[in-house]
Amino acid sequence: MDSKFSNLTIETAGAGFRAGDFAPTDLANFYLTRIKAKNSDLNAYLEVYDDVLAQAEQVTKILKQNSDSKLAGIPLAIKDNILIDGKIASAGSKMLANYVAVYDATVIKKLKQAGAIFLGRANMDEFAMGGSTENSAFGPTGNPFDKTRVAGGSSGGSAAAVGANLALAALGSDTGGSIRQPASFCGVVGLKPTYGTVSRYGVVAMASSLDQIGPLTKTVADAELVYRVISGRDEKDSTTIDPQVMVVPEKMTIGVPYDFLASGVDPVVLANFNLVLDQLKKTGHTVKEVSLPNLKYSLASYYVLMPAESSTNLGRFDGLRYGALQEGKNLLEEYMNSRGVGFGPEVRRRIILGTYVLSAGYYDAYYGKATAVRELIRGDYVKAFSKDGAGVDVIMTPTAPTPAFKIGEKVDDPLQMYLEDIFTVPANLAGVPALAVPSGKTDSGLPLGVQITGPHFGEDILFALGREIETII
Ligand code: GLN
Repeated sequence: MDSKFSNLTIETAGAGFRAGDFAPTDLANFYLTRIKAKNSDLNAYLEVYDDVLAQAEQVTKILKQNSDSKLAGIPLAIKDNILIDGKIASAGSKMLANYVAVYDATVIKKLKQAGAIFLGRANMDEFAMGGSTENSAFGPTGNPFDKTRVAGGSSGGSAAAVGANLALAALGSDTGGSIRQPASFCGVVGLKPTYGTVSRYGVVAMASSLDQIGPLTKTVADAELVYRVISGRDEKDSTTIDPQVMVVPEKMTIGVPYDFLASGVDPVVLANFNLVLDQLKKTGHTVKEVSLPNLKYSLASYYVLMPAESSTNLGRFDGLRYGALQEGKNLLEEYMNSRGVGFGPEVRRRIILGTYVLSAGYYDAYYGKATAVRELIRGDYVKAFSKDGAGVDVIMTPTAPTPAFKIGEKVDDPLQMYLEDIFTVPANLAGVPALAVPSGKTDSGLPLGVQITGPHFGEDILFALGREIETII
């Protein structure tokens, strides 16, 4: 019974429903049973909803009326920072441990309309700040391939849920790599869409000019299915725009910024990456060196801009407007107590940093400079993709510089942890889309991944090349 569900994808599950092989309730039961058996080991879910079967029964009725929605009956894990009406959304923080959402995020509304089923909320680094899910106030998430290692972050719960087959797909959020890096660590596909193609309405904001919601799935085709449903202009988020259609070249010119890969990359990761490039060359694609001279400043500018925006966004969690209130003798003491108790150390570190770089006297030196550098980085990408520049169709790098590391290995060294985002952060700064695709395993069985970055609105190009990579691995 179980095995027929184990290797399903969104595509094949949908086909199974339509052929009458099984019903959404059967599939939902399969996942509930697996979660019960495995979640205590992994801590991928912070909560499994008590209405999963009721949701599945509802969808079964809709499917009988012949819905052609590809996501009808598909069980998903949802990152804990995406609001579902009536459910807790804690953003991995003590501050919001009991916060119950009073409306649906736009992505949730769209998924509900499509008939998707929500299994539960997935663990994450507190307020999406982190690269290992060890900053969750509710304990780390284990890697499905070795539970002594991290699942990556900050969407570690979402990635582990899909990687361990505790959900057919998941939603995550990505501000500097939080979908792609955990996807890579857990052997699944992760998409950070073009900035603005997916609504952020109803998502707990981290750094608004960088945040995007996207899918984590078993296959590239599934990522595309979810992306089609959740994307599109939304009047509730004025930064949104409809996805555009782009021509997908049959044989692509793949740009590789070799100088950017010269140091700090695990040799096993590099060898795997070169292997993928060799295979792609064999199938008729061209690989050439591309220069993105300002990429080396990505992390430095990200770690100014992101804390600046986060410190502003997190100002609302003061125990009065939002968040758990801790009593004090006066208002100031209530603020200080609430924020001191509610936020963990990494969140506090970033609020302090962000407040500092925005303070009068330092604003131009830090925030102003980092904004200017961000523009240069965006310019590097635009030039690389333009016919007057390098004219490449995509840019490829490994997704992360290392495979999943040990739980505890980097917690005392924030700078080492920040380096995990070296390849993922640039796409957020530039607003371009990037897709993480599994590309094999280390000798000890840890997943590896490559990242394809495309021009603004180039998702279709990423999906096409991503599908090819799946077939050659
Ligand atoms: N790991 C990165 C950070 O800590 C990215 C986080 C994210 O994308 N939400 O900021």
